[in-house]
Amino acid sequence: MSAKIRLYVEHPLGPGQSVALTREHAHYLFGVMRLSAGAPVALFNGRDGEWLAEVAEAGKRGGTLVCVEQTRPLQMPPDLWLFFAPIKKARTDFIVEKAAEMGAARIVPVQTEFTNSERIRQDRLQAHAIEAAEQCGGTFVPEVCAMQKLDRVLADWPEGRQLMFCNEAEVGSALRLAEHEKGRPWAILIGPEGGFSDRERARLTALPYSHVVTLGPRILRADTAAVAALTLWQQALGDWG
Ligand code: SAM
Repeated sequence: MSAKIRLYVEHPLGPGQSVALTREHAHYLFGVMRLSAGAPVALFNGRDGEWLAEVAEAGKRGGTLVCVEQTRPLQMPPDLWLFFAPIKKARTDFIVEKAAEMGAARIVPVQTEFTNSERIRQDRLQAHAIEAAEQCGGTFVPEVCAMQKLDRVLADWPEGRQLMFCNEAEVGSALRLAEHEKGRPWAILIGPEGGFSDRERARLTALPYSHVVTLGPRILRADTAAVAALTLWQQALGDWG
């Protein structure tokens, strides 16, 4: 029996584990998808892999599923963080969704000097990451962090993590990522619509763990640049090769 519906649940999953449904999930499964008792649903929670579950109780405002068997183990993405300066809402949503689909392990909105949107809706962005994981078959969901100032991000930079600094002003040589060894922690940094300030660029270029990357001779939109950089990294050092 295989399930066509995949749901992320904030609930432990294991053999015989019963999972109480939220009102939203109950409405979706029983009101929209018209499932009834015994119907299969695939569940994952970002920790326990994917489990085949069956509808035990179906109700208008709630219901219960019972886990039958694990169908996929947890598959962690590579240790790649995406730092990006938020742009317009729809495009920021797009960046989060693509980063989750493409295997970022953590997504961090960063406020740089030229970032226009001061505020982000972290809960909404996290929901986009969850939806992306549900759709792409992932068993892991990246955390979308609260927005941090770039100075704070650099002050707290984790020892050993390398940085792919996507610098639109640099038409230098493309970073030969493949020369680096796989399995090391990395991060990608994408600037805002207004780009990085000269001060930021100088500081970011001088960092010992920073690798300046050009994404070609044309200026890409931040959302395009995020996808391009994730692709370059995943192909060279991630879990696509
Ligand atoms: N306002 C900037 C300008 O006109 O030079 C453009 C910023 S671009 C819309 C947003 C971000 O995407 C940049 O800060 C950079 O991180 C990345 N990006 C865009 N095009 C790039 C390129 N050709 N090479 C490297 N990074 C690029």
